[in-house]
Amino acid sequence: MRPENAHQAMLLRLLREGGRSRAELGDVVDLSRSKLNVELDRLIELGLAEPDGLAESRGGRRSGRVRLSRQTRFAGIDIGATSVDVAVTDGELGVLGHLSEPCDIREGPAAVLDRAVTLLGKLREQGLYTQLHGAGIGVPGPVSFPEGVPVVPPIMPGWDRYPVREAVSEELGCPAMVDNDVNIMALGELHAGLARQVGDFLLVKIGTGVGCGIVVDGKIYRGVSGSAGDIGHIRVDDDGPICACGNSGCLEAYFGGAALARQATAVARSGGSPYLAERLAAAGELTAEDVAAAAAQGDAAAIQIVRDGGRRVGQVLASLVSFFNPGLVIIAGGVARLGHVLLAEIRSVVYRRSLPLATGNLPIVLSELGDAAGIVGATRLISDHVYSAA
Ligand SMILES: [Zn+2]
Repeated sequence: MRPENAHQAMLLRLLREGGRSRAELGDVVDLSRSKLNVELDRLIELGLAEPDGLAESRGGRRSGRVRLSRQTRFAGIDIGATSVDVAVTDGELGVLGHLSEPCDIREGPAAVLDRAVTLLGKLREQGLYTQLHGAGIGVPGPVSFPEGVPVVPPIMPGWDRYPVREAVSEELGCPAMVDNDVNIMALGELHAGLARQVGDFLLVKIGTGVGCGIVVDGKIYRGVSGSAGDIGHIRVDDDGPICACGNSGCLEAYFGGAALARQATAVARSGGSPYLAERLAAAGELTAEDVAAAAAQGDAAAIQIVRDGGRRVGQVLASLVSFFNPGLVIIAGGVARLGHVLLAEIRSVVYRRSLPLATGNLPIVLSELGDAAGIVGATRLISDHVYSAA
């Protein structure tokens, strides 16, 4: 069920922020009072919205409150390299239930999507929904947004051009949309995180790889083919290490899960950090989490690794800030758990290298939503579609 016209769509998006009175809606939309009431009554008839009692009097007659239908349900599916998260929300994107499982993306689309659908089935059995109104999906790789398919995703063997959107839509019996994980995290921040009041911002995700969600005027900017924000392969040093993409000196080759693991292993083997050497001996390998743990213990070598990485990210970010002039930069993803040492380094480089006019009013912050950003953003993605005129 979709709204019949652009006015109805706009009203639904306003109600997604919370129910309110007809008088309050009249204050923020550019519609005559009678036209507004006609559209609201029609939304109630369609089952998209419902009456919600009377508002406090503002002097005259008490105005009727309206809210989204209590029956509305959206599903968010956030597929990571090593995990799958699903959630069911109400129309206002409040999370009613959330399940997460380890899952290897390399098992391929049929197996991984089947896991997601099975998890959602558990939430249905718990009584959280009978019918979904839409499902949003995030995947850890480049996506052709108009077609709803991943395109040559480096860490997703078997997913190239797999019809993710069609497959999920058919399986769940509702509209579906798919986008890359960084974009859905940015939408999550826009809906429920630190970016709620910010129309233009960047979300930099530092995980296994490095990517950037670009939000312009409250909307994701995807570029012509969907690859906008793929900053992991911006070159920071001509003579740098070889990257997984085949070029040398990419940002990702310096910083990201794989690069941190490699640097930590080198430091441990050369005797630069007894702490990392001990963890390497115990586990047989090191990960970004080990670097985070070592840095938290005050390990000088680990802190240096984090600082070096933060400086490279800061270099790239300083150029992006000069180019884009965002109102906010959010740092997110697994490596963001390196926390304040990382943040301090990124901030100092960006503030030093960008022009004062661009940074004078520019907060650079760590995400507070964490893992919830992806699933909330996925439901925001599909609700934007469902709450647009058919
Ligand atoms: Zn590269």
